[in-house]
Amino acid sequence: MAPRASRPADASFPNIVLVGSRASGKSRAARRLAEAIGWTRISIDEGIEARCGPIPAFVARVGWDRFREMESYLLGEISGSRLVVDCGGGIVERPANIPALRALGTVYWVRAPVRVLEERLARPEHRARRPPLPGTDPTTEAPAMLRRRAPLYREAADLDVWSGGFGSPARSEAADELRRAHFGPPLALTVAASTVKALGVGLRQALGECGPDDLVEIRLDHLEAATPGRVGEVLARCSEGERERLIVTARRLEEGGRYAGDEEDRIALLEAAARLGAGWIDLEFEADRQGRGALTRRIRKAAPGVRILSSLHDFERVPPALEDLPKQMAVTRPDRIKIAVAAAGRQDASRLHQLIRRTAAAGSPMIGIAMGEAGSALRTVAADAGAAISTYAPPAGLPAVAPGQLTASRIRARYRRWGRRLAAPAPVYGVIGHPVGHSLSPPMHEAAFAHHGIEAAYLPFPVPPEELAAFLEAARLTEAAGFNVTIPHKKAVLPGLDEVDEDVRRIGAANTIARVNGGLRGRNTDWSGAVRALEEALRLSGCRATVIGAGGAARAVTYGLTRRGVDVAVLARDDRKAAAVAKAFGATVRPFSGLDRAAGDILINTTPVGMGPLADRSPVPERTVAGHGVVFDLIPHPERTRLLATAAALGKTIVPGLRMLVLQAAAAFEIWTGRAAPVDRMEEAARMAARAR
Ligand code: NAP
Repeated sequence: MAPRASRPADASFPNIVLVGSRASGKSRAARRLAEAIGWTRISIDEGIEARCGPIPAFVARVGWDRFREMESYLLGEISGSRLVVDCGGGIVERPANIPALRALGTVYWVRAPVRVLEERLARPEHRARRPPLPGTDPTTEAPAMLRRRAPLYREAADLDVWSGGFGSPARSEAADELRRAHFGPPLALTVAASTVKALGVGLRQALGECGPDDLVEIRLDHLEAATPGRVGEVLARCSEGERERLIVTARRLEEGGRYAGDEEDRIALLEAAARLGAGWIDLEFEADRQGRGALTRRIRKAAPGVRILSSLHDFERVPPALEDLPKQMAVTRPDRIKIAVAAAGRQDASRLHQLIRRTAAAGSPMIGIAMGEAGSALRTVAADAGAAISTYAPPAGLPAVAPGQLTASRIRARYRRWGRRLAAPAPVYGVIGHPVGHSLSPPMHEAAFAHHGIEAAYLPFPVPPEELAAFLEAARLTEAAGFNVTIPHKKAVLPGLDEVDEDVRRIGAANTIARVNGGLRGRNTDWSGAVRALEEALRLSGCRATVIGAGGAARAVTYGLTRRGVDVAVLARDDRKAAAVAKAFGATVRPFSGLDRAAGDILINTTPVGMGPLADRSPVPERTVAGHGVVFDLIPHPERTRLLATAAALGKTIVPGLRMLVLQAAAAFEIWTGRAAPVDRMEEAARMAARAR
């Protein structure tokens, strides 16, 4: 459904920088991509040749070091936007080039299987163009080169893309993969406003955010006192080429829109938009059904080049006869159809997904929107299934007009990570919470995957409590390999799992989900993270500990410590809750009123006192701190809470919550991958992300 005239994307998209070994198909991809999206291609090798003559002769004359110097120099000279930069294979060998590449734009590692590289490198035409690298011949060059450079490409690149062969869909071109990875799936950016001025501003913003395959939907039903003249004023804000990418609609009340006026007037608005050059008119199927396409014919007559999108909305459910709808809707003879339905769970979303796939395979891709969070989990998958447009989204900063909509930039950010999976099938992990935007789990796990060279995506999944069950259902449909679970879902997630282990049963909460034989298995690594963090400070067996608080974290900590033979006393502002925790794990309960007299080897805060709005407070008086030797605050951020600052000033050993956070993440990583977690790297990533907040 790309507009007829492909318009270059706005400069708000970063430049595209391609790295990868020689013979990987990088230059071909750069050429094809730049041509398709109308951006400028810059080839560093061609730049060297223009200045210094053919590369084999230049290298023979001056050596590889001089060649690399020249390469760095030319890289430093590049500036501007809308560029596709094709770099030589060895550009990553100079450490200073890596930040320079990253500063230039989004860096993609174009990859090809070693056997394909070997075969290409052995071809005479290739050998004539490039001298072999020092110490290699055509048969050993590819493996040797890849071994050395793979970590460097990985360090430089934001995403990787396979060019043909293994890991890439059959017959797919690296240029197409790059286009999808960079611009995301084709979106329709929705603009709705009550005044001509606001609609015009939104329209400009949406056009500015468009990638080469995106469209902009204008909702005339939100425009007050809409007349053909006012429609003309709005459309006057864009050029002829830009109008090509508009979808104009005036959605009726009964289809979830705001248009409550006369039907004849509504069609006149759409006709006016079509006459003014709007590329697409969205016409509700129900409005056109009785006349078997009379409205479609009328609008086409008014503006012969216009295309009609026939749309059907069901905000209540997925219609039982979903699979028959495309055939029924064909009666009005539209150019495309759009079906938007409320998806309540896995089966609903899956049916829609299959339908999208089937229509795409039959050569008439449709738009299928699953509304609600179950649908949100599948939005990026719809692009894979061949949807004409993967979803509708407001441009950045503008409000959503339909339930569950994410902004365009948010969808793209999500997709870019899923893009990794598309390019090279890789497992997908994530953290489920609400909110989850500030979670430190993504940077920690990304660092761990990168450390082991494991291709995996780790995504934040913001799931509101009422959507949790549907989300878990939908997750089973995808290739999701594991999740972390955070506030407020650790307890609520249990009924949605297929099995839980003994720790989870006893604590009553899961913070990790592993995919086992297609099912979801709940685990708890909070307790082991807490125990390991403390064991780094002292030997636990035989110690006395005071736990403040009686929530989920207190349960995990008390469970872990009693397992290690620690004598635990629980105190909470609600003595009954403290008693319940103590009873569950064979600990003692102490009255909260006696807090200042509490003493022991370890003091542990499991309340949120010390973070967020309570950041300047301590959960206990100084006297309580003085009565303990080691002080552990579970709060991960700020790292030095008021409690820990007091403890440090009194010369106590302190254990920050960040350490527990890292160790619980490390345990989850080990459950998922069976590999030793790089704890220090994960901690460094968490600390850097926390500082950047
Ligand atoms: P939770 O289930 O809500 O429990 C919080 C506990 O703190 C409850 O006992 C609550 O008492 C008490 N509390 C809340 N506000 C208080 C106040 N102003 N004064 C005294 N007590 C108060 O939460 P949670 O899941 O256990 O998490 C608690 C803390 O642990 C959070 O700060 C979280 O960030 C941290 N945590 C850290 C990690 C880590 O890896 N570092 C892991 C898990 C949790 P009521 O029941 O009376 O409200």
